[in-house]
Formats: sequence, C-alpha cells, structure tokens
Amino acid sequence: MRWPKLRELKEAVVAVISPRFTTRFPAKPCQVPERYRGKPEFDEKECIGCGACVNVCPTQSLMMIDDLEANPPVRKIIQRYDSCIFCGNCQENCTTQKGIKLSDKWDLATLDRETTKEIHEHELQICEKCGAIVGVKKHLAWIYERLGPLAYTNPSLVIAQSENLTSQKKISELTQQAKQTQETKAEAVAGDFMKILCPSCKYELNIRL
Ligand code: SF4
Ligand code: SF4
Repeated sequence: MRWPKLRELKEAVVAVISPRFTTRFPAKPCQVPERYRGKPEFDEKECIGCGACVNVCPTQSLMMIDDLEANPPVRKIIQRYDSCIFCGNCQENCTTQKGIKLSDKWDLATLDRETTKEIHEHELQICEKCGAIVGVKKHLAWIYERLGPLAYTNPSLVIAQSENLTSQKKISELTQQAKQTQETKAEAVAGDFMKILCPSCKYELNIRL
C-alpha cells in the first residue's frame, strides 16, 4: 500500500515543477498544427458552382438548391458548418481543386446556429428550348477554357461563353421564353443549332434533323 502512494506523490511533484501542457486559451490565441482541419471555406473566385462537393459531403453540411424563380436564375450552395465533421471530402473532390479548402479556423462555437449558415450563389444557364438547367455559367466557362479549340465541337458551349455578354433583359426574356416553350413542347427546328441547349434537347435536335 505504501509504495503506490509514494509513486503518486512523485508524479505530483514532477507535474508541479514541469512546464504546462495546456494552452492559455482564451487569454492567448491557440496555435493549431500546420495540417489542422478547420472550417471549410469557399473561394468565390475559384468555385464554379458545379456541386461536386455537395454530392460527397457525408453530413449534408453542404446543400444545393437551384432557384429558377430568381432573376437571373441561380444555384445556391448552402453551407452549414455546425454539422461539418471536417472530413475533408469536399476539398479532396473539388472539381477545380481550389474552390473549397479546410482552413485553420477552429473557434466556431456559437449560441445561434443560424449564424453558421452561409449561402453562395452562382448564376445558372438555362436551356433556350425547354427551360431545363444546363449548368452554372461559371462551370460552362471553365469547361470551355479547359477544352480549348475542342470546345468548338459543342455550339452550346461556345454560345454560352459569348452569352456572358448577354444583357440582364435578354436573360429574363430567355427564362420567360423557356418557360413558355416548356409548356408547348416546341418541335426541333434548324435554328435550334444556334441555341444553348440541355443534353435532352440536343439529343432531340440531332435525332430529328
Ligand atoms: S469537411 Fe466533410 S462534412 Fe465538412 S463540408 Fe466538407 S465534406 Fe462536408
Ligand atoms: S466542387 Fe469545388 S468548384 Fe464545385 S461547387 Fe464545390 S467548391 Fe465549387
């Protein structure tokens, strides 16, 4: 019985004279290791709104809504970092490899969970024939740049790229037009080759003409 007590006493004395192991937070900011996985943060410039990160998020900390009623129509990527488990899947699978990165931010505690919600919006490209979503404009531009001269095999891609010059008025006209066309299921005509089309309208066009 005596020896264990002495050992504990020795440990207590050593602990008292040793340097501290705990940090002085919150008096002093805490230094995290170099590869620490903290709050995932979007880079607005590098993110193209493709949604790949949303698909691989295991906790639905990232969600996506396409809002066709907005003017112009937008894709909203909703981030709720209160349910993030910092797995790094989003960063690992990001299409551009730069759109989202886990930062070293760790002090994320809050009393109001609504403050952990962030919304990132990206303008959508709408099919000029049926009103379906073709993709995010930034995503199409990214594909266009990656393809280089090969992009000219896809008229929709080339027109979408030049559509970046399209006025706001034209965008709302197109959305309106697309909604009407959706209702009337317009037949494919030769002029459709010079429109921005979704894969299914493109298929229809190539099969019928
Ligand atoms: S780190 Fe994991 S849980 Fe958090 S947003 Fe990215 S994929 Fe989702
Ligand atoms: S995968 Fe990357 S580029 Fe695509 S939406 Fe997520 S962060 Fe943005």
